[in-house]
Amino acid sequence: MDRNKKIIKVSIYGIIVNVILVIFKAIVGFITGSIAIILDAINNLSDAASSIITIIGTKLSNKRPDKKHPYGYGRVEYFSSIIIAVIVLVAGLTSFKESFLKIIKPELAEYSAISIFIIIVAVFVKFFFGRYVKNEGTKLNSNSLIASGTDAISDSVLSLSTVIGALISMIWHLSLEGYLGLIISVIILKSAYEILKDTVSDMIGIRADSNLTKKLRKKVMSYKEVIGVYDLVLHNYGPNTIIGTAHIEVPDNMSAKEIHKLTKEIAADIYLNLGITLTLGIYASNSEGEFKNIKAYLNTLVKKYKTILQVHGFYVDEENSFISFDLIFDFDEKNQENIKNEIISSLKNKYPKFDYYVVLDTDFSD
Ligand SMILES: [Zn+2]
Repeated sequence: MDRNKKIIKVSIYGIIVNVILVIFKAIVGFITGSIAIILDAINNLSDAASSIITIIGTKLSNKRPDKKHPYGYGRVEYFSSIIIAVIVLVAGLTSFKESFLKIIKPELAEYSAISIFIIIVAVFVKFFFGRYVKNEGTKLNSNSLIASGTDAISDSVLSLSTVIGALISMIWHLSLEGYLGLIISVIILKSAYEILKDTVSDMIGIRADSNLTKKLRKKVMSYKEVIGVYDLVLHNYGPNTIIGTAHIEVPDNMSAKEIHKLTKEIAADIYLNLGITLTLGIYASNSEGEFKNIKAYLNTLVKKYKTILQVHGFYVDEENSFISFDLIFDFDEKNQENIKNEIISSLKNKYPKFDYYVVLDTDFSD
């Protein structure tokens, strides 16, 4: 079964479980007159809604790419995650307000043993179901499922507080539901904020997962002609569509025919094993000539600057008397241009017959 089918299956379970809980809780809530239980039921209703949104989002994101959206519709999933997070946020605000009102004007609700029993069952159902949804979400890399699962777990804690409140109200005739509700509301608000933050961050574009980039680099480096892999950039169009570019360093005596074969093989390998569409650019590496001293001198120059993360693509074109290399700076370094010029003038002093061509690369990935 593919990812989308699994997400939809989990979401359908979500709708069924929540609708059953809504019916039971609504009945118990109206019989006992407990606002907490009725609110809880409404909350379950919103969980069923979030499952429906997950299904719609998954279906839409699965649409085939077309001329207008050649990267596909994968990013639709970010919108469904945001809608669900907003639902959770509203649920949190509502329960915060209700709990606050209850503290100001406490009411003792009437509970029967059977209603407490039903709530306890609901707590367990919700808690274990929530964990299941959250785990599936993590496995399937679906923020919508993670959001629904997190919501279900916090709901079960909210229900638990209702039970505790009920017991306290029965034994000591004290109404603590309001205080308990307030604490839970804050927890719900916090999880809503975190889901929103994560999803918005994904939409803005985050640094590629370092496990993935390491795996990719290792795979490319396993080709014997490849001397180095640099400037790896990965873009995603939804959680499962990744397109990227990288530079590989190969000996300068390779022919276009050989490079053609090599890059085709690497691209196919990366696509089959990691699902990434990778385009490769070429850096040449000197296969003849002795330029070790120049490179060593460059390395000593670079070592002086702690904010230089990497030097790569060092190549000496003797025929045209120029040397090229790339520098990667830490994002915090504001003086990149100045440092680059300092390095060039030091090189120029020591090896005046060359011109220097230096590119400042961005620290895109690990
Ligand atoms: Zn570069």
